[in-house]
Amino acid sequence: MIKYSLICETGHEFDGWFQNSGAFDVQSANSLISCPSCGTHEVQKALMAPAVATRAKETTPAQNHPTPGAGTTTHAYVPPSIQDIVRKIRTEIEKRAEYVGSDFAEEARKIHYAESPERGIYGEATSDQVAELDAEGIQVFALPVLPEERN
Ligand SMILES: [Zn+2]
Repeated sequence: MIKYSLICETGHEFDGWFQNSGAFDVQSANSLISCPSCGTHEVQKALMAPAVATRAKETTPAQNHPTPGAGTTTHAYVPPSIQDIVRKIRTEIEKRAEYVGSDFAEEARKIHYAESPERGIYGEATSDQVAELDAEGIQVFALPVLPEERN
């Protein structure tokens, strides 16, 4: 079964279930579809994308936003004045947080579970480690990388 969102000539929207994608055309051509509100047989598909009947639950908004693939990083193009702000944020974080190098993920976890003193830290983590932290509800963010730091 396929569900189509339908709309009649006067703008009433309703859902219709059909055996297959061709059934709508057949029933429509034979005036077998009528609007439940006004009874007209002048009915069209409102949306091109059909929902499949076996899918009982509505997809949540989060599922409609595919997460970026592994290895993808967010980029920004900003004018030099904004690069200065980014540079200052970087400098501030590096000044106030402790550099822990490749221990970052483990140390962030320890701080989260109060096994290490609460403080800001920064260091290197793989995308897998960041994903694991995220899954545990430990929120970390990537430090902005300045253009001059790229090879
Ligand atoms: Zn109608």
